[in-house]
Amino acid sequence: NEEEIELLRENNLLVSRTLAEVGRHIRPGVTTKELDRIGEEFIRSHGAVPAFLGYQGYPASLCISVNEQVVHGIPSTSQVLKEGDIVSVDCGTFMKGFVGDSAYTFAVGAVSDEVKQLMEVTKEALYKGTAQARAGNRVGDISAAVQEYAEKFGYGVVRELEGLGQKMHEDPGVPNYGARGRGPLLREGMVICIEPMINMGTRAVVFEPDGWTVRTRDRKPAAHYEFAVAVRKGGADVLTDFSIIEEAINK
Ligand code: MG
Repeated sequence: NEEEIELLRENNLLVSRTLAEVGRHIRPGVTTKELDRIGEEFIRSHGAVPAFLGYQGYPASLCISVNEQVVHGIPSTSQVLKEGDIVSVDCGTFMKGFVGDSAYTFAVGAVSDEVKQLMEVTKEALYKGTAQARAGNRVGDISAAVQEYAEKFGYGVVRELEGLGQKMHEDPGVPNYGARGRGPLLREGMVICIEPMINMGTRAVVFEPDGWTVRTRDRKPAAHYEFAVAVRKGGADVLTDFSIIEEAINK
C-alpha cells in the first residue's frame, strides 16, 4: 500500500545518500574496507541499520566489487583502489520495518574510454528496463529491454543473478535477460529491484571460494547499477535517486 511504498522510498533515499557519501570518498589509495566503514557510519547515524550486515552471514555493510568483480565483493583492508579502477557499491538499509537497496558503479579517477562506455551502457540499460516497469507489463518486458540494449554493444549479460523484490529478496525476481510478454505480470504497487550486471567480455562468471564474490571468468571489468522501483499504472515510480549521487561525485 501507499504507506509501505513511502517507507520503502525513505529507505531508498537513505541508500542514495549513503552511496553519495561513499562516492565522495572514492579515490586512489582508499581501501574498500574504509569505504564500508564510511557507509556503515552514515547509515547508522541516520537511524537505520545496514541490511546486508549478517544477512546469510555476510560480513560487511556494503558489497564493494572492483573491476572484474561483478557483485558481492567483500570490503577488505588489502583492496586498495587505484586510478582507472571501477568500483560497484551495493548498499542496503533497514529502517522502520522496511528496506532500501540499490547500487552504483563509480570510476576511480580517470578511466579508459572503453570502461567509461561499459558504465554508461549499463546505466542506460537500467533506464531502458525501468521504462518497462508499469502495471500490465510483464517482467520479461523489463528483462528483454535490458538484454537487447546491452548486447547491442557486444557486452555479456550476467544470467546467474537477478534483481529481487523488496523486503530483502521477495518475488518476483527480475532477470536481466528474457523475452517480451513473458514472466510474472507487473501489478500496481509492486516494488521490484532492477539491476543490470553487465560484463565487458563474455557473460560467464565465477563464484569465488570466499562464498560471496562473483567475478567475470575472463577477468574483464563488469558494471552494476540498481534501482528500487514501485510499479504504477502510468509507469515506473523510481524510489532510488541517482541525482543525489551524481551531484556529490561531480562536485
Ligand atoms: Mg542491491
